[in-house]
Amino acid sequence: MRPGGKAFIARAARSALMGLLLGAGLGLAVVLLPVGSPAGPRMAEAATPEEAEAAAQAQDLAALAERRLLLPVQGVAASELRDTFNEGRDAGARPHEALDIAAPRGTPVVAVDEGRLVKLFTSVPGGLTIYQFDPSSRYAYYYAHLDRYAEGLSEGMTLQRGQVIGYVGSTGNANPEAPHLHFAIFRLDPERQWWKGTAVNPYPVLVKAGRGP
Ligand SMILES: [Zn+2]
Repeated sequence: MRPGGKAFIARAARSALMGLLLGAGLGLAVVLLPVGSPAGPRMAEAATPEEAEAAAQAQDLAALAERRLLLPVQGVAASELRDTFNEGRDAGARPHEALDIAAPRGTPVVAVDEGRLVKLFTSVPGGLTIYQFDPSSRYAYYYAHLDRYAEGLSEGMTLQRGQVIGYVGSTGNANPEAPHLHFAIFRLDPERQWWKGTAVNPYPVLVKAGRGP
């Protein structure tokens, strides 16, 4: 008997009817359960978490390169940046995951991109900090150790690219002898909460942006 034969069809019809009767008792969901191949369509090979994260990071670099970010400290050129992203902090207890950009206290700090100022936050390690989202709310820009904020900042306002938002300092756990801007970029989680995200290295993004078109 071929699977397409009459007996097969009759059997299929009977089991479909049984399914409907059962479904009537158990609710529509039962009827809507997929029938056919028990395992469902074969899924593409799942990437390891490391591979998925590497792919996400490559995407971050491409997306952020398109933003053509400004350098966040006035008067500091891309060639003067040092990649401090993978350095350890607290005697290696945690990764730095940011750039430290040294500059004299009081040097203006500018918004690297346009986008909403989401949070003005004072923390023990970061001191006076600013969290800004990019226009798509995919990324957060984080500026820390500020000496003070610029006049007129408020949460929820839209910052213009290049707008002065504060001044380099050493608030928080920075060495008072070595004022600097601690600048980080986070890929936000789907909930878009300013305090949750995955660090993206700003160094290649800023160096590329600073090179001009
Ligand atoms: Zn730092």
